[in-house]
Amino acid sequence: MPPPSTDLPDPAPDPAPDPAPDRGAAARPPSVDALARSLGGSGLPHAICVDLAREAIAAGDVAGAPARAEAYRRTLLSPVVNATGVLLHTNLGRAPVAVSTDARAVNVEFDLATGERGSRQRAVGQLVARLCGAEAAMVVNNNAAAVLLVLAALAPGRQVLVSRGESVEIGGSFRVPEVMEQSGARLVDVGTTNRTRLSDYRRALDRPDADVALVLKVHPSNYRVEGFVEETPVAQLATLGVPVVADIGSGLIDATCPWLHGPPPAWLRDEPAAVQALADGAALVTFSGDKLLGGPQAGVIAGRADLVAACARHPLARALRPGGLVLAALQSTVLAYLHRRVVQEVPFWRMVATPVADLRSRAESLAARLEGVLDARAVALDALPGAGSAPGATMPSYGIEVRGDLLDRLRAADPPVVARAREGRTFLDLRTVDPTDDDHLARALTAAASVA
Ligand SMILES: *Cc1c(COP(=O)(O)O)cnc(C)c1O
Repeated sequence: MPPPSTDLPDPAPDPAPDPAPDRGAAARPPSVDALARSLGGSGLPHAICVDLAREAIAAGDVAGAPARAEAYRRTLLSPVVNATGVLLHTNLGRAPVAVSTDARAVNVEFDLATGERGSRQRAVGQLVARLCGAEAAMVVNNNAAAVLLVLAALAPGRQVLVSRGESVEIGGSFRVPEVMEQSGARLVDVGTTNRTRLSDYRRALDRPDADVALVLKVHPSNYRVEGFVEETPVAQLATLGVPVVADIGSGLIDATCPWLHGPPPAWLRDEPAAVQALADGAALVTFSGDKLLGGPQAGVIAGRADLVAACARHPLARALRPGGLVLAALQSTVLAYLHRRVVQEVPFWRMVATPVADLRSRAESLAARLEGVLDARAVALDALPGAGSAPGATMPSYGIEVRGDLLDRLRAADPPVVARAREGRTFLDLRTVDPTDDDHLARALTAAASVA
């Protein structure tokens, strides 16, 4: 592909002249411009169609040009139907959120009371702090940025104690030792991989060369060590006399899930939560906005006001600050919690709270609609929280099982449907599908069957 251009394409270097309207037209390739114009129906900008036309002609694949345009169009960001049963699918943007796109100015950094410049952290910061029971909070681009900023601002050149069992890699590119190194803080490993006790931390604090700025407790979100294991809870770490930073990762706000009817679901059993970590004495917690909180991609730092202020003053804070779109989406999410409308308004929690009986009846009616079209039946499935939250945990679900691997054909639907396949069968889990998309699923499956 030639470099993209935003200018009008230069028609001069066309590899071929316009074909003659009659004799010999079949033998000669069309002009780049004519071919590009014929791709206009793809909805792609003309400059892109010209690039694709040139590419198709150069490859001797004029007939394949529409397919190339369609393939290009499908690289653009667009809504998809998540029928994988993975609620927070990292490849599908984790938590689904509604975004308002009014083309209007917003008081992102403007204080309406004084008419002066304000702080972009103020509105969302105070709401998040209220929600977590913290003195203060601020927001950055993601949780990796939150941890980086906390370490850079509060422990430059100084020691940070981390349990060997928590010196982990999360999601492939977040490795605690590497983030530590980038921040300029010095990692001090304490304890062993499977057991770290309070006395291990104490020993590190009592060393003659000790210069400990923080104790960092990292939730090993995406795996679980079973058996002869011991970790030191935040409440004990808080007795050490050094600020404790708890990277809880998943962004569960309150372990009691007061926004659900009934007790917290079993799959949440081992997830640390912001309210409890702070109540137990963590000086700061950090977490993602787009995991169990159910908001946009963001990272939250919440806790002691003096420490949050030090983070906000650090030069990196400017580089890691989120834009107004993210702040607005996070504000909506947090307001839904404070209004106690989580299940109604936060799509992730709506998916969690849907009774399995509802999913079952949707699956049965879908299967009934597909009778005679393809071999489909309603089946019990296990949905997953995803995004490395609650590893190994599942929640009961229901969906459709179809004979054959239809993944490619379902992805070709518009909007694309993303499902899972195993042993020559395709599974569509309805816990992650909005009920208004059931009709689309039926049509996509019918179309997939007709190609079969
Ligand atoms: C997910 C996670 C991160 C990384 O968060 P991002 O928002 O993806 O940057 C860091 N720490 C923990 C414990 C996590 O679970």
